[in-house]
Amino acid sequence: MFLRPASCLALVCALLLCACQTHPPAPAGVAPAAPAQVLLISIDGLRASYLGQGDSPTLDRLAAQGVRAAWMNPSYPSLTFPNHYTLVTGLRPDHHGMIHNMMQVEALGHFKVADTDTTGDGRWWSQAQPVWVTAEQAHLPTAIWAWPGSAAEIDGVRPSRYRLYDHDVSAMDRANEVADWLSTGPVAQRPRLAALYLEMVDNAGHSYGPDAPETRAAVRTVDAAIGHLLAVLEQRGLAGQVNVIVVSDHGMAPVPPAQVLALEDMADPADAQWISNGQVIGFEPRPGHRAQAEARLLGRHDHYSCWRKGELPAHWQYGGNTRIPAIVCQLDEGWDALEASAAARRHTGRMRGSHGYAPDLPSMRAIFLARGPAFRQGVTLPAFDNVDVYPLLIQLLGLPPRPSDGTLAPLQPALAAPAR
Ligand code: AMP
Ligand code: ZN
Ligand code: ZN
Repeated sequence: MFLRPASCLALVCALLLCACQTHPPAPAGVAPAAPAQVLLISIDGLRASYLGQGDSPTLDRLAAQGVRAAWMNPSYPSLTFPNHYTLVTGLRPDHHGMIHNMMQVEALGHFKVADTDTTGDGRWWSQAQPVWVTAEQAHLPTAIWAWPGSAAEIDGVRPSRYRLYDHDVSAMDRANEVADWLSTGPVAQRPRLAALYLEMVDNAGHSYGPDAPETRAAVRTVDAAIGHLLAVLEQRGLAGQVNVIVVSDHGMAPVPPAQVLALEDMADPADAQWISNGQVIGFEPRPGHRAQAEARLLGRHDHYSCWRKGELPAHWQYGGNTRIPAIVCQLDEGWDALEASAAARRHTGRMRGSHGYAPDLPSMRAIFLARGPAFRQGVTLPAFDNVDVYPLLIQLLGLPPRPSDGTLAPLQPALAAPAR
């Protein structure tokens, strides 16, 4: 576990704050104010540059009225499950163990996003503790709509309420359900943390590319659902007590039809088995074939580079986890690597989109927006890393922080009552 010095400082500050955060008793005859709630919304694949294009009036209003980051940097690899777990743990994927959307580990077998047996298996998630588990352990109820990891029991705990990922439930239906979670039932049982996951923008971005009308339409759909959710909270008198945070996990880059490589051309399958496809390719050398695999793969090639797992560029902070295959290849922006049969089909296809490229590329930039009683109004923050969202969640919920790679420092200027 690595802790930045700033994280240690933030940890001490936050502990002091938690200790002081007991509310004074309400005067006799006055009902105590309901505790603040946190609503965390993720719009998968919402590239930072999608905002302000006329498709996101709700998000643009949130940005203008509340807090926005110029953009938010995803962690490496810029894929969905790794970054969603980073957002709720404050750990780089190398440290929280959700190192890719596709994994293969001797003790656990294969992990695939589309396989509910594995996404719901807590053993894959147990290298870290997500904020909803910490909240539940502190007796704060949580309600999670399909955030990656929420289908699993982690450290023996599940969210008080959760919904499994269901592609067929519209963004609007999800918004209504989350609004009900936050606003109905006995106050003590209402979630102090609710989270909502929305995949529509990512799906359209993959299918049509980031600049396509279909992707813009998906942004409008999701924006309308979030606008509805916020309007319902306002109608029910909750606008002043819900801290709303809207994030995305990564951006999206255009992938022209011809820009696809065959995995079998990268390394002979007799020398190395590919563990993940797409943009971040893990290869495991076959027994006795390490030298051949390394000779073929390591270094710079047309459209990709490969390293031994311990030798990736240091600023990606990736390569230490035992789940990472021995050799990792990073595709250049706009390129994909698939099995030869799938790659052949792609050549005749249309423009598509992908992510998983180097997190420092502008196309991979994510968003961060926030509004509510804990936040100042009209603040634009310089870009920060997505590991810093977790210390904010911990601070808002008054929870004891766990070691993380993040720090509250970049978000401090956005807080209405900055921690001293
Ligand atoms: P990717 O684009 O490969 O990083 O994966 C993200 C996609 O996975 C989303 O666009 C969703 O369609 C899908 N997805 C997200 N969460 C889940 C889940 N819990 N189970 C199955 N599929 C999911
Ligand atoms: Zn994603
Ligand atoms: Zn995606």
